[in-house]
Amino acid sequence: MPIHILSDQLASQIAAGEVVERPSSVVKELVENALDAGATTITVTVRGGGRDLVQVADDGLGISSGEIEMAFLRHATSKLDTVADLEKVSTLGFRGEALAAISAVSRLTIVSRDRGAQGGTRLLLEGGRRTSRELVGAPVGTIIAVENLFYNTPARLKFLKSVPTEKRQIDEFVTRYALAYADVRFRLSHDNRITFQTTGSGDVREVLAEIYGAETTRTLLEIETEVPDREATDERAAINVSGFVGPPDLNWANRSHITLFVNGRWIRDTSLTYAVIQAYHTLLPAGRFPLGVLFINMPPEEVDVNVHPAKTEVRFRRPNTLFGAVQRAVRRTLVAKSPVRAAGGWAAGGGFEQFVPQHEHIAGWSGAAQVEMRLDWSRRYQGAELSAPQDGESEAAFEAAGDVEPSERKLPIMRVIGQVGAAYIITEGPDGLYLIDQHAAHERVLYEQFLAEWEQQKVVSQGLVTATAVQLPPSQAALLEDNLPLLRSLGFEIEPFGPHTFQIRSVPAVVARMDPAAALRAVVDDLEEGSTPLQGKVEARIVLRVCKSAAVKAGQTLSRAEMEALVQALEECESPHTCPHGRPTLIHLSVAQLAREFGRT
Ligand code: ADP
Ligand code: MG
Repeated sequence: MPIHILSDQLASQIAAGEVVERPSSVVKELVENALDAGATTITVTVRGGGRDLVQVADDGLGISSGEIEMAFLRHATSKLDTVADLEKVSTLGFRGEALAAISAVSRLTIVSRDRGAQGGTRLLLEGGRRTSRELVGAPVGTIIAVENLFYNTPARLKFLKSVPTEKRQIDEFVTRYALAYADVRFRLSHDNRITFQTTGSGDVREVLAEIYGAETTRTLLEIETEVPDREATDERAAINVSGFVGPPDLNWANRSHITLFVNGRWIRDTSLTYAVIQAYHTLLPAGRFPLGVLFINMPPEEVDVNVHPAKTEVRFRRPNTLFGAVQRAVRRTLVAKSPVRAAGGWAAGGGFEQFVPQHEHIAGWSGAAQVEMRLDWSRRYQGAELSAPQDGESEAAFEAAGDVEPSERKLPIMRVIGQVGAAYIITEGPDGLYLIDQHAAHERVLYEQFLAEWEQQKVVSQGLVTATAVQLPPSQAALLEDNLPLLRSLGFEIEPFGPHTFQIRSVPAVVARMDPAAALRAVVDDLEEGSTPLQGKVEARIVLRVCKSAAVKAGQTLSRAEMEALVQALEECESPHTCPHGRPTLIHLSVAQLAREFGRT
């Protein structure tokens, strides 16, 4: 085929592919247009998961009769004029592509009336070509109905996901925009049933309650705005983070409940999502993710929104500063407001109250997160110089290390009463009963002890009276050989001793009471997990593993003296409420709860 210029129609279909990937993209673009038009009420009507119909009606500015055709031309926009405007975009749209793209791949009807006009204009477009135009009576605002999406691009149509999947995507967009624009009334219906609506009262909590339910919403923690300190640089002060985060025990197996808005635009950003997750470090069980709805506001010239046709990916001028700001905001909120695990889990009829200490310290924050960072860049065992942190992650962790509040008493003084099930220690405190999980508590104690030693660069190593020889499978032996210096820094003195065999001369003091061979095997197992993990992560994991294997197990009977020592050590911990993996170490049963359970109130 000779080289030739594509027909206009084909070119617009190709271009449309980038903007309109699926029915939910239509919803997104039309809702964004309505928001840009200053709508206070937006009604989204969907049929067949958006394949049959997507209709968005708004009461915004409207489009004048003279300009309405123009809105459907490629690169036609009222939101941008000069190159300079592109540097500081404050509207959701600006590329002038959406209406052109949507109309190129559907049958579209628009009715719009601007404020000055007596009536509205109705246009019909098929595959981007106008097929009719008339003047009609209409309220001020715009209604756009998109039918038979992709009717003229069969390839696209074939690749559409199932109707339920498309519906879910649409729900996701609409609920997210309802959160970011709580002062706009949204109404969404699928196949003639209203599935979601908000009042437009401006109260984000109300919208959250529509999405997550009133019960869950009550537990969410509102992000406290940062009081700018004297040292805060201007750029730091210019970033404002608000919104809500969930308490640690509200968690999911994926990160889809972390929602980020930058200047009112919903964005996807792995780094900022990670900033939120990292603020929960060790508070959550492995593989679980928190809830976060964060509104980030910053000068528009700090963000480049013109990276991707769908505009959900953006670029920041100072990603590290932003990462730090987000992480600090979340952590600050958790530190100030995170409740201790209460006995709610076992209350059959509910009603166990949460025990909320005055200044809960975010568990593990001063622990693992910082240690991961230190492990990462100190590399003592290599005798390397301390080097500056490299990326946003460690920079943020570094900044964060500075401003943890001085610890106050985090647990009440407790008196040991006894042990139950050879697993839990029963204690009495000033307000009722505490049950302590002996394994989790001991893990926490050992973990903090190990960290303290690590921080002072003197992990206590205990020599063995008789060196123990351990034989490993070849692959593990090679792995161990490679990691001997690392293990030495953690307190394991190990030497090669014949083929696949090693001699253990000393072990970290925290595992001194364990079978050294078992301790080493546990560590090697961890080395094996994940083929080329980051060094810092391996070390942090090994520390966790060592503490886990050294901690007393459930099923072990403890003497009173042992229990008292453990409870006292727990009381002295920085973050006594959870084990390093984020599970609770203790639960509280208050006198009031007891009274309620016994029907005394
Ligand atoms: P963009 O939003 O990037 O400007 P679009 O193709 O989405 O491009 O829209 C083109 C133009 O049509 C907009 O700039 C705006 O002037 C007008 N427009 C689109 N939707 C609406 C609406 N719901 N209300 C008022 N004007 C609208
Ligand atoms: Mg637009």
